[in-house]
Amino acid sequence: MVKQKFCPQCGSKKIKWIDPNMSFWQCQKCGYRGSGVIEDGDLDKKVKEAKKMEKLQKKLMRGR
Ligand SMILES: [Zn+2]
Repeated sequence: MVKQKFCPQCGSKKIKWIDPNMSFWQCQKCGYRGSGVIEDGDLDKKVKEAKKMEKLQKKLMRGR
C-alpha cells in the first residue's frame, strides 16, 4: 500500500516528489518546497499537535 503524502504547510494532497535523488517535495497548492512531508496516518496527529500548541500559546499570551 502506498502511503499518501500531505503538505505540512496547507495539508494538501497535491504534493509532488520533484527530486529523485533526494526526498524533496513541492506542493502544487501553496508552493511549499522542502523535504518534510506528512505521511498518511500522521496527519491527524500533526493536526492535533498543532491545535495543542495553539491552545498553549493562547494560554501563555493570556498569562502576560
Ligand atoms: Zn501546501
